[in-house]
Amino acid sequence: MTDKLPKTMRAVVYRGVKDLRVEEVPVPRIGANEILVKVAVCGVCPTDIKKIHYGTVPPPRIFGHETAGTIVKTGAKVSGLKVGDRVALHHHVPCLNCYACRHQAFAQCPQYKRTGITAGFEPAGGGYAEYVRVMSFCLPGVVKIPKQNTFEEGAMLEPVNTVLKGVKRLNLLKGDTVLVAGQGPIGLMFTRLLALRGINVVTTDLLDTRLKLAKKLGAKLAIRGDAADLPERVTKLTKGRGLDAAVIATPVDAVLKQAMGLLRGAGQVLLFAHTKRGALTDIDLSTVCVDEKDLMGSYSSDVTLQPEVAKLVFSRKLDVRGLITHRYPLAQTADAVELAAKPTPESLKVVVTQI
Ligand SMILES: [Zn+2]
Ligand SMILES: [Zn+2]
Repeated sequence: MTDKLPKTMRAVVYRGVKDLRVEEVPVPRIGANEILVKVAVCGVCPTDIKKIHYGTVPPPRIFGHETAGTIVKTGAKVSGLKVGDRVALHHHVPCLNCYACRHQAFAQCPQYKRTGITAGFEPAGGGYAEYVRVMSFCLPGVVKIPKQNTFEEGAMLEPVNTVLKGVKRLNLLKGDTVLVAGQGPIGLMFTRLLALRGINVVTTDLLDTRLKLAKKLGAKLAIRGDAADLPERVTKLTKGRGLDAAVIATPVDAVLKQAMGLLRGAGQVLLFAHTKRGALTDIDLSTVCVDEKDLMGSYSSDVTLQPEVAKLVFSRKLDVRGLITHRYPLAQTADAVELAAKPTPESLKVVVTQI
């Protein structure tokens, strides 16, 4: 199998702000504790879009971290994984041993902050290439994809993991009412996971197509975020109590303020999309201190949740197949990123596919 591997491959290289180029680069070499994966599908993630559009990291890099594919080579010391295995990858894996990890703050672990999957240059995920090298510290994050499931489902494990991590930060009881503001792919997955837990989910968005889908996925109420009667509807639904929690899955300040206003005392607001540094807001801090409304965030994934995530996705309890609306070949990765950055009423999750 290994002797059939080519010396070079196609990859989409980030060369500067909004500058993605298809180039011929060397197929990565692997060490004794590493594996090489032929990429089948890689999802386009908003965090990659941000880096490409604002140039927040120096080029050159090969992005793409929601990756699924087939193992084509394993290092001599690798066990438990073999050539031919269909796998989903995880590019950030914590050490489980440091100060941050002992506090379950995995996304703050120094090892976690390193990217352990690469197609060349500074490691950046590498999923927009034909092959990726998975470094040894990322092997615990590799999940085998069952026969009956697709590579696309495998590629969704990473984003689903980030959503489940966010859900678990909320202190909820069955029957609680939670707002999920923004019904893009991430917001819709929040809606579904919360509905599965017996939560009354209120969803907002400005696109009717997305509100319709939110209803299908279990939302109790799906309403435009700018609807004048939204506060009244929430009051009615919660018998005057207010929201128990709100997930802000769109980076809009007005939405955060609206949610803070609709929240009951000691409720929780989870920021999930405010990833741009330097964004300030003028929230009345007495709502945090006196009304005990918690303002918190969740970022990236938690590898310890991976078995639960795999079960949810592969059992199709959380059926991600309907969320993938657009597929682009590798050579058109730039178009895929553009569409994900400027969604249309019909577009949800966009993936780059090589199958
Ligand atoms: Zn992502
Ligand atoms: Zn650690």
